[in-house]
Order: sequence, then C-alpha cells, then structure tokens
Amino acid sequence: MPLSMQPLPYAMNALAPVISEETLSYHYGKHYATYVKNTNDLIKGTDRENLNLKQLIFTAAADTLDTALFNNAAQVYNHEFFWNSLTNDTSKTTPTPKLMSLIEADFGSYESFKEAFKKAALGQFGSGWAWLIFQDGHLKIITTSNAATPLTNPAATPLLTIDVWEHAYYLDHQNRRADFVQGILDHLLNWETALKRYQEK
Ligand code: MN
Repeated sequence: MPLSMQPLPYAMNALAPVISEETLSYHYGKHYATYVKNTNDLIKGTDRENLNLKQLIFTAAADTLDTALFNNAAQVYNHEFFWNSLTNDTSKTTPTPKLMSLIEADFGSYESFKEAFKKAALGQFGSGWAWLIFQDGHLKIITTSNAATPLTNPAATPLLTIDVWEHAYYLDHQNRRADFVQGILDHLLNWETALKRYQEK
C-alpha cells in the first residue's frame, strides 16, 4: 500500500500569523507531499512496498545504503508529527496538570521550559527539528539534524516537535527563526497531543 498524505488537523489559515496560509500551503502541499511521493516511488515494486511508515523508517535506518528512503520516510513521519504538535484551539495550548507537573519537576517552570525549547531550536545549526521527548522518567528537549528522528531511539517517546528547516518559516519571518519558534511556544503547541503520546508510551 503506498503511503497517503495525512489530512491537516486544521484549516490552512488556522495558524496565522505565526504560520501563514501561504507557508502552510507550500509546507504541506509541496514539501510534505514530495516526501510522501518520493517514499512511494522508492518502495514501488520492491519488497518494502507493503511495510507501514514506521517499518520503512526502521528498515531504512538499519541499512546504511538506504539513505534516500530513510530521509524521505522519516521526513513524512516528522512532518505528520509536526502537524499534530500544533493547534489553534486555545483549550489545548496549555499543558494539562499531569504534564505541567512534569514540566515543573524537570524545568522549574513553564517559562523556563519555553526558554529551554527556544534555545535548543535556535541552537540547531542548519536544518532539523527540536523535540520534547520523555525518556528515563524525565522530559527532555533534544534536536535532530535534517531528517533524523527520535523514533529510532527505542528509549525515547517523542511528545512534540517544531520544524526548524528554513522552509517552515522563511516566507513569514525570513531569517528570524526565533520569532517563529516563540510564536509556536506562546500560541500553537498542542498539549492534548503531547498528553496522548505520553499516555501511549
Ligand atoms: Mn518541513
């Protein structure tokens, strides 16, 4: 079964002004769509054709010659994770009590958490992703480069991510990655998704 594009969980204009309709249209309809198409093209007619997305990523990660499949399949996963890490529904943009208590235990306060997430996102040199993960009983913030994903670390449960590739923000914020990240941290993080992922770990 070829991969299909996951629908966006909100309207194209729902995340403006942090992420404009124009940016989201390109990001979803061009960048993400291309990763889905490339992955399908790479597996078509091969013994990997019937693997699901996670199986494709694990298989490609174990095969150092399969960089193209890993990069494209992992980018499909990372983007779907990103779409679901965001929301314009303000009933979801504050951490639930369970997650807030973990945030306070591991970062001191929600403000300190946001500072740490922002610092990590700005510190990622070049293209990549900033993640909130749960590992060894603690919340942690990590970054990955290019298509790399915490999915390949069996000890880590990814909870939220921010795409810090330039295509995610350049039309709206040009070189100001900080404004894009701050806008997401202040207005668009989907803590309901984070809680669901935490509970499923
Ligand atoms: Mn992207």
